[in-house]
Amino acid sequence: MRIEPWNIVFLIAFIVYLWIRHVFIRRTKSNEKAVSRLDARERMLMLLVMPGGLLLPVIYLFTPWLAFADYRLPAFAPWCGTILLVAALWLFWRSHADLGQNWFVTLELRKGHQLVKHGVYRSIRHPMYASIWLWGLGQGLVLQNWLAGWFAFVAFAIMYFLRTPREEQMMCEFFGQEYRDYMRETGRLFPRINVKDGTRHHDCR
Ligand code: SAH
Repeated sequence: MRIEPWNIVFLIAFIVYLWIRHVFIRRTKSNEKAVSRLDARERMLMLLVMPGGLLLPVIYLFTPWLAFADYRLPAFAPWCGTILLVAALWLFWRSHADLGQNWFVTLELRKGHQLVKHGVYRSIRHPMYASIWLWGLGQGLVLQNWLAGWFAFVAFAIMYFLRTPREEQMMCEFFGQEYRDYMRETGRLFPRINVKDGTRHHDCR
């Protein structure tokens, strides 16, 4: 392993990140599905995100193979990155905890799925994705390597912009007016400033 302080900080945060996922996958794995939009496109997106999120950092930390893509950032950058990683972990954990049994890693809904509007879902619809944005930025600032640092960010950006409208459409079809009202009161990643304006931009049928 490349034993540098920032690599160790990242590795610890990474283990916590994976552990949170693991705990909630175990808790929800026996849920029966009512709706599934897990098609070829969704599988491709998962394949794109996995190598960036999981494989490249591991290769970077435990082998010298990615050394050609190393670079140096100013000393304050990894400190900022660490703050982002900690914030991301908190939001990642809270969003899993608030969704509880109503969580799937892909576009699926369970039998008896409840629309969660409390906790970190009160003002924004995608706190888990917000946490992954924060994580991606943090990863780029802590791991000073173009590939291990930024591939995950770019891969997630593609996934976010392709998946979010489909997820909202699925939620609209399942929850109808309840989700439309929820959209009117919330923003995607940032709280809505003027609730009265309604939602035109991200509306669904
Ligand atoms: N987009 C959300 C959740 C990501 S996980 C976020 O970023 O926080 C994706 C799955 O979560 C969806 O397939 C759906 O099953 C579930 N989901 C998303 N928003 C939800 C909500 N407000 N209430 C209940 N389940 C939700």
